[in-house]
Amino acid sequence: MLKHFIIIFVFNIFIASTVIAANQDSRELRCEHFIVNYSSSIDESYARSVGDIAETYYRDITQEFNLIRDNLWLWDNRAKIYIAKDKSEYCDKFKCPSWSGACVDYENKIIYTYPNQDKREAIFSHELTHIIFREYVGKGKLPLWLDEAAATYIEDKHSGGYQRSLYILRNAITNNQYVKFSQLEQMNLSGADAVSQGSVNLFYIESFSIVFFLIKRYGRDNFYQFLYFLRNGYEFGEAMRKGFTSIKNIDDLEDQWKRFYLE
Ligand SMILES: [Zn+2]
Repeated sequence: MLKHFIIIFVFNIFIASTVIAANQDSRELRCEHFIVNYSSSIDESYARSVGDIAETYYRDITQEFNLIRDNLWLWDNRAKIYIAKDKSEYCDKFKCPSWSGACVDYENKIIYTYPNQDKREAIFSHELTHIIFREYVGKGKLPLWLDEAAATYIEDKHSGGYQRSLYILRNAITNNQYVKFSQLEQMNLSGADAVSQGSVNLFYIESFSIVFFLIKRYGRDNFYQFLYFLRNGYEFGEAMRKGFTSIKNIDDLEDQWKRFYLE
């Protein structure tokens, strides 16, 4: 009976969100790990659906990669989601680019967005993975491709797209036009105009395909181990050898990965 009471009590604290008016123009919805701040012209039910999606992905990302952190996203440490009333307010108020569906302050765990986008699932699953993954592995320990690989892996799970595009990767491997792993490690997309859209797409698909391969071939537990060693200060190659004992080095990974997709 006592146990039952405690469960209900905890349930009430966490799940029963309260809506309070933060000011005239916006309202606030408090969820377990997120605070959703939304324009008062938006329906509460919409804000709640955003909070629900964020909570679902939060749980899934944490479980999928076993990202157990010391710093829980509770109370004052909750992430924040700001929803502007429309796209023009999103650009003016949050200074986000008009081509984007959301922009993210990764360090402070803030996602800015606007309502009714068709890519909401893709955006939230992808960006939340970046926030959680970077928090877990730590700054400076994460090559860009691996960061994008984790984000696209979760995005694919919730809104599809990447597994269906693997034929592009197979073609690139067959024609020896894929991004060599030695290059992949150094790639940053900041000089994006120097890089063609085709090679940016290939970069994402290839990054996805490596994590997809590692998990399919070696299982999630070995992937957890690898991330654990990376988080704990091992350099990339060493973390990989410790996580996946049958991968000797990055060249060996590249060979195994190629064979997997050409099988
Ligand atoms: Zn990304």
